[in-house]
Amino acid sequence: MMHREERRQRNALAACYRIFHQLGWTELIYNHITVRLPPEACGGEVHFLINPFGLRYDEVTAVNLVKIDLKGRIVEATDWPVNPAGFTLHSAIHRGIPDAHCVMHTHTTTGSAVACSAAGLSRDNFYAAMLHGRLAYHDFEGITVHADEGPRVVRSIGRAQAVILRNHGLLAWGVDIAQALAYLWTLQRACDIQVAGAALGPTVPVSEDIQRQASADALQFAPEHGGGRDVFEALVRAVDARDASYRIPD
Ligand SMILES: [Zn+2]
Repeated sequence: MMHREERRQRNALAACYRIFHQLGWTELIYNHITVRLPPEACGGEVHFLINPFGLRYDEVTAVNLVKIDLKGRIVEATDWPVNPAGFTLHSAIHRGIPDAHCVMHTHTTTGSAVACSAAGLSRDNFYAAMLHGRLAYHDFEGITVHADEGPRVVRSIGRAQAVILRNHGLLAWGVDIAQALAYLWTLQRACDIQVAGAALGPTVPVSEDIQRQASADALQFAPEHGGGRDVFEALVRAVDARDASYRIPD
């Protein structure tokens, strides 16, 4: 009998994969969104849910999500493999940041373009300003995160919940899926606008004071102001309107 909380997390995570599909934040069968299950749902063990390796995001369901441990080892019978190399980046963050219950990572074109740009994220657009004090960078060390890079990733991130992996892509973590999505969406929009605006010449600068104010006023990140839940639920409704068969019924 599946724990109620595991069923809830499976439904939410499968919905999130489908949201990414609808947003076009996909990379063939690659990239991951992972969640840590609460220990009470796993008999006190530390377990995570991850996408089955080989499926598109729109093929992910609550049932086919794979349960793994911190080392990426499958802990419950499944028809699907996982990509343990892909999980090492996520596991480093889950392990090193206690509040990082959800980690999401993308290789979107504009996100990766900004990640490759020497100047990084420009602060003079609406969304970038909200990330003042909330954004970290991690330098590229190769395509696979090896065990020794894990602590360096965690050190690079600090408490920032939006992360640019230089020469690579974007990442966000959150206390839950909705909060991580609020960060990643804001960062993605900032990158989209920066890249689209690059052809238009110099941008109008935004002072650091205004950036600081914009970040303080960006209440969508704060759990006490919903932490992105309204947005997440709205996007889940859009997914469900198309096809809700991915869910495990309550
Ligand atoms: Zn990657």
